[in-house]
Amino acid sequence: MTSVVERLSGPRPVFSVEFFPPRDAADEQQLWLAIRQLEGLDPAFMSVTYGAGGSSRDRTIRTTGRVVQETSLLPMAHLTAVDHSVAELRNVIGWYAAVGVRNVLAVRGDPPGDPNGEWVKHPQGLTYAEELVRLVRDLGDFCVGVSAFPYGHPRSQDLDTDTEYLVRKFRAGADFAIAQLFFEAEDFLRLRDRMAAKGCDSPLLPGILPLTTVRTLRKTVELSGAQVPASIARRLDPLQDDPVAFRAEGIDIVTELSQRLIDEGVPGVHFYTFNRSKATTEVVGRLGLLPARA
Ligand SMILES: Cc1cc2nc3c(=O)[nH]c(=O)nc-3n(C[C@H](O)[C@H](O)[C@H](O)COP(=O)(O)OP(=O)(O)OC[C@H]3O[C@@H](n4cnc5c(N)ncnc54)[C@H](O)[C@@H]3O)c2cc1C
Repeated sequence: MTSVVERLSGPRPVFSVEFFPPRDAADEQQLWLAIRQLEGLDPAFMSVTYGAGGSSRDRTIRTTGRVVQETSLLPMAHLTAVDHSVAELRNVIGWYAAVGVRNVLAVRGDPPGDPNGEWVKHPQGLTYAEELVRLVRDLGDFCVGVSAFPYGHPRSQDLDTDTEYLVRKFRAGADFAIAQLFFEAEDFLRLRDRMAAKGCDSPLLPGILPLTTVRTLRKTVELSGAQVPASIARRLDPLQDDPVAFRAEGIDIVTELSQRLIDEGVPGVHFYTFNRSKATTEVVGRLGLLPARA
């Protein structure tokens, strides 16, 4: 099985897709429909996020294992340090290795319940993603990804320290990073420039959420930590009460954004799919990233 970073080093830009673990049987059906539909488009890899609690974590592990066994997709499992001792983290990583998952996105995670609450590490656990990267690398031949924040992580004092800690994750063994949501190409490109200024040119993928509804726009504000810029508000605000027109304009906006980033040389575009396939399929089709047979 190849690694994510190998898939990112080809001559053409690629795309990848992210899912979250299903909450119930209906969710599971929806998730697998989306996985099957996107599988036909040959994404470079797919990933499954890691939840805050026991049962959602089991579902991440189960889903990732099923992807290995039943699909042609290259899976990447997310892992967090939340409420885990190092011994438990070793177990999860060992399980991933046992089912053939060789790609892990190592993120610290947020305090359960209140993402902005105080971070309390497990007494036998880890404090920063950097330590998780080291642990995963020490346990086997994994390709490891980390998260990056175009506007800086909400807990960071300033962009310079934020970038310094990001670069430390690469020095600890990370192979690539995926950026949190952002609105404009320059926001992402400035992060890439900050990394380069610190001597780091490892692959950095933009994370893109297709703006299909007012809810996805709000989610982008919430997760990015940035307000909607005037250039986008001008296009979407007049369409708030017209879902069809909003969706069409939103898809145009993320297609233009992704195209600009491809022109700027990103190795791939990572889509947050919300366990749906339609909008991602439309955008990657318009970007010309589909295989000829799709
Ligand atoms: C692509 C992507 C995927 C994600 N997937 C998941 C998921 O599956 N499950 C989930 O629960 N969450 C997920 N998250 C959210 C993520 O867990 C949170 O945003 C979390 O708050 C930050 O994680 P991190 O790995 O960037 O933390 P870290 O890199 O540990 O950084 C956390 C804070 O500490 C600072 N810092 C880092 N290292 C040091 C150091 N050595 N000394 C002092 N300060 C330091 C950083 O600047 C930052 O302010 C994801 C985020 C992204 C962008």
